[in-house]
Amino acid sequence: MKRALITGVTGQDGSYLSEFLIKKGYKVFALRRRTSTPIYVNVESFKDQLNWIDGDLTDLSSLIRAVQISDPDEVYNLAAQSFVGTSWGQPLATGEITGIGVANMLEAVRLMKPDARFYQASTSEMFGKVAEIPQRETTPFYPRSPYSAAKLYGHWMTVNYRESFSMFACSGILFNHESPRRGLEFVTRKITNTVARIKLGLSDELRLGNLDSKRDWGFAGDYVKAMWLMLQQEKPDDYVISTGETHTVREFVEIAFSYVGLNWKKYVVQDERFMRPAEVDLLLGDCSKAEKQLNWKKSVNFASLVHMMVDYDLDLYQSVVEE
Ligand code: GDP
Repeated sequence: MKRALITGVTGQDGSYLSEFLIKKGYKVFALRRRTSTPIYVNVESFKDQLNWIDGDLTDLSSLIRAVQISDPDEVYNLAAQSFVGTSWGQPLATGEITGIGVANMLEAVRLMKPDARFYQASTSEMFGKVAEIPQRETTPFYPRSPYSAAKLYGHWMTVNYRESFSMFACSGILFNHESPRRGLEFVTRKITNTVARIKLGLSDELRLGNLDSKRDWGFAGDYVKAMWLMLQQEKPDDYVISTGETHTVREFVEIAFSYVGLNWKKYVVQDERFMRPAEVDLLLGDCSKAEKQLNWKKSVNFASLVHMMVDYDLDLYQSVVEE
């Protein structure tokens, strides 16, 4: 039985990945940070199948202990302060968790289980003010937020540990990936959640920032498979994972509202509070390397992703309305 240690299990990607690995017959160990209120919404149905270990990315001693207890074949580092918007208000905490946290995890693996395979959750946000379109593994980085600057450090540390210590360390440069399990602060889930509430008469407006920014949005369930595939290769490497399509926030809004038979223009209000000090205007990924070498392919297209998320949020609030 293979053993995996995952950080960030209660988040969107961690929940899909742990489900995927359990189905593959892995024994899954989950690093858990103490919180005073429960955070299990994404893993509720299978949380008893996970082997929980208390720890924190900013505490190296706890990570050393976690690697010792789990004795993993594979380590997936998905934990982070993952919201770009928050990173301007908490730049140092973001640096500690999202940046230095990666070095802590790499050190724990190097010291305790150097032959474990290591996956680092890197991000298309590192391309920032893009140097070329589309972006691929060789595109130079230009981070535009404290979040992406911290992620860039984590990316290079992963590459560095691979080259310095011959560790099997991979960095997955994943473009935005969404699902019904996405946090409510991200624009996609914020839109689908509010559309559902408007449709059911629980809200009457959707306040958004920049409608013109463009993202390459895929389905998170497809993307966790790519993480696993990277660790099954003969050699460690870095890969871009994307859909190869880009859409504006406005297009996402239009599709979500029209799916429930409403005209978005009646409900969307532009709100300065959601504008960012610096923006990433356009992300579009070229994942031909992953398609070729990992034999990876997306299975959900853009409109189906929007519909899936709206359907989920409609169900969520339907029960509230019925009560
Ligand atoms: P990100 O790509 O990781 O920053 O993912 P987000 O979902 O947070 O943001 C995607 C894009 O949507 C960014 O360009 C935001 O500026 C834009 N956006 C527009 N309005 C909003 C909003 O109300 N909330 C968020 N989170 N993003 C918004």
